[in-house]
Amino acid sequence: TESDGRPLPTTTTPHVLIFPFPAQGHITSMLNLAELLCLSNLRVTFLNSDYNHRRLLQFTSVQSRFAVYPELFYMLGIADGLPIDHPRSGEQILDLFESMRSVTKPLFKDLLLSIRPPLDCVISDGGLDFPLDVAGEVGIPVVHFRTIGASCFWTYFCIPDLIEAGELPIQGGEEEMDRLITKVPGAEGFLRCRDLPSLCRGRDLYHPYLQGMVSATRLSSKAYALILNTFPDLEGPILTQINSHCHKIYPIGPIHEHLRTKLKKLKPTQESSSSSSSSLWEEDRTCLGWLNGQPPKSVLYVNFGSITVMKAEDIIEIWHGLINSKQRFLWVMRQGSVVAELGSNSSTSTFPEELVKEYPGEEHMVVSGWVPQKEVLDHGAVGGFLTHSGWNSTLETIVAGVPMICLPYFADQQVNSRFTSEVWKLGLDMKDACERKVVEKVVTELMGERREELGSRAARMAELARRSVGLDGSSDRNLEALIEDIRSMRR
Ligand code: UDP
Repeated sequence: TESDGRPLPTTTTPHVLIFPFPAQGHITSMLNLAELLCLSNLRVTFLNSDYNHRRLLQFTSVQSRFAVYPELFYMLGIADGLPIDHPRSGEQILDLFESMRSVTKPLFKDLLLSIRPPLDCVISDGGLDFPLDVAGEVGIPVVHFRTIGASCFWTYFCIPDLIEAGELPIQGGEEEMDRLITKVPGAEGFLRCRDLPSLCRGRDLYHPYLQGMVSATRLSSKAYALILNTFPDLEGPILTQINSHCHKIYPIGPIHEHLRTKLKKLKPTQESSSSSSSSLWEEDRTCLGWLNGQPPKSVLYVNFGSITVMKAEDIIEIWHGLINSKQRFLWVMRQGSVVAELGSNSSTSTFPEELVKEYPGEEHMVVSGWVPQKEVLDHGAVGGFLTHSGWNSTLETIVAGVPMICLPYFADQQVNSRFTSEVWKLGLDMKDACERKVVEKVVTELMGERREELGSRAARMAELARRSVGLDGSSDRNLEALIEDIRSMRR
C-alpha cells in the first residue's frame, strides 16, 4: 500500500526516538530532522515535554504537517519536572537541567523499555547528559544531535583545557574581557573572554550548569555519532577539530533549508515555509502585510528569540538608537520577554507601550507576539536583522542572505556573534554595548555605508548554504550516510 507516494512502514522499518531539550530552537531543528527521516521512510517517535507537547498541538498544525507520513510519525509527552507556571525562559530555563535529571530521567527509562515497536536508535539532544546513559543501560544506540553551532560546541568542549591553562576563570573586570583566548584550537587570534559562552563569565566555574554543559558536550565523543546543524563552508576548520575527538560527525545543516529543498523537490508547487512551522506561540502574520508596503531591503528586523528576557532599560536604549538612526524597522517581542521591574525576576510584561505612543510613525512596526520568522527574513523588504544570535536565527539569516547586527544575550550566543562578525564577516557585533549611540551607529552602518559589502558576502554564504543541502552537497551526503547508519542499527 502507498500513501502520497510513500510506502507504509513494514516490520523491518527502523524506529527512532527523537528527544529534544524542551525549548523552541531545539524542537524546531529536531522536528525538521524528524521530517527528513520520515521522508526516507524511517519511523519516528518525537518526545516532547508535556508542557511543549500541548503547546505544539495548540499553535502548530503539526498534525497536518505530519499526516502525510501515516504510521511513520508519533508524538509523545513526558514530564519535565517543573510546575506549570514556571516561566521556562531567561536564565530560569536552566532549571530544566536539574528537574529533568530528577523527574524525567526515570520516566525516560520506563518509556524506552515499554515503547512499541521496540526502538532501534535514540537521537537525543546533545545538551542533555542522561539519555546516553539511560539508553546505554537498556542497550539502544544513541546519536547526539547538538542544536548549537559547531563553534560553540567546540568552545564548550575546550573549557577544561582553558581552566587547566589558567585562561579561566576571568579574574578581572571589564578590562579583562578583551583578553584573547588561546586554548580553543582554530579560534586563536579572535576569540576573547567576552566571546566565551555566557556561563563562563561567572567566577564559579564549578557551577552545575556550566559543568553540566561541558560534561554533556564531552559525552558526545562517546555517542554513536554526532549530528550538527551546520555545513563545512561555514564551520569547516572547527568541524575538523571536533572530528579529532568525535569520530563520527554528521553536519547536515542548515537543516531547515535541507528540509525545504527536499520538500520542494517532491512538491514543486507547494509553499513549504508555513506548512513546516513548529511554533510554540501563535503566529501573528500581520507584519507580512506591512512589509509588503515597504521599499526593498529598507527594513531592519528586530527579534531576540524564544528565551531571552530583557531589561526594560536595554529596550529603551535600543528603541532610541533605532529611532535616531531614522531607519525603518520591524520589532517583534514575545509576551513575557521583558523583566517587569528592575531587579525583579518576574517577566510577565511586554513591549513598553509608552514608547510606541511617544513615537508613532509609518516607518516602524512593533509586534507584541510571535511572527513566522523565516518568512520575514525571506521578505524582500528586509535589509538587516538585529538578532540575539541564537543558532537557528543565525542559520535562517544566513540562508536568507541578510546581514546581521548581533546583540547576544546568553549561552552560545556570545560565541555565535563573534564568528558572525569576525570570521564570516556577515554582520556587526555590538555585544555588551547596549547603548543608544552604539545602536544608532551600527544600524546606520549596516543599513547604509556597509550595506553593499555585507550584503554581497551574505549573498555568497547563502549560496554556499543552499549548495550544501542540494543534490550531492555535503549536508545531503551526510544525511544519506546517517540514514544508512540508522538502517544498519535495525535489530
Ligand atoms: N522564531 C519565530 N518567530 C519569532 C521568534 C523566533 O519563528 O517571532 C523562531 C526562529 O525562527 C528560530 C527560533 O524561533 O527558529 C529561535 O531559535 P534560536 O536558536 O534562534 O534562539 P532561541 O530562541 O533558542 O534563543
